Amino acid sequence: MKFNKEELIKEGYIEVKPGFWKRPKSALLFCVDCQSEDFIYFMVTNEIWKIIKGKSSILCIHCVEKRLGRKLTINDFTDASINELIFYGYHLKS
Ligand SMILES: [Zn+2]
Repeated sequence: MKFNKEELIKEGYIEVKPGFWKRPKSALLFCVDCQSEDFIYFMVTNEIWKIIKGKSSILCIHCVEKRLGRKLTINDFTDASINELIFYGYHLKS
């Protein structure tokens, strides 16, 4: 994976907890359900969006899981580059 800690830091990201990075400059975005700004950015598959009716909304992972009624798995995320951090987090946990 072409993932580089130093590059993330240069881009302005901070590590909020081990393996989870966010960029404070993007803090204008917040979860429509819980108003939390403290989440990482990710993209889930269209199937998941359809189930949770989240299209064009911003939701944190916890609220996606709440709407979905189950935990998200690695297969629920698209392979978009924004998810590299998610995959990196999973990588750290495994
Ligand atoms: Zn939320």
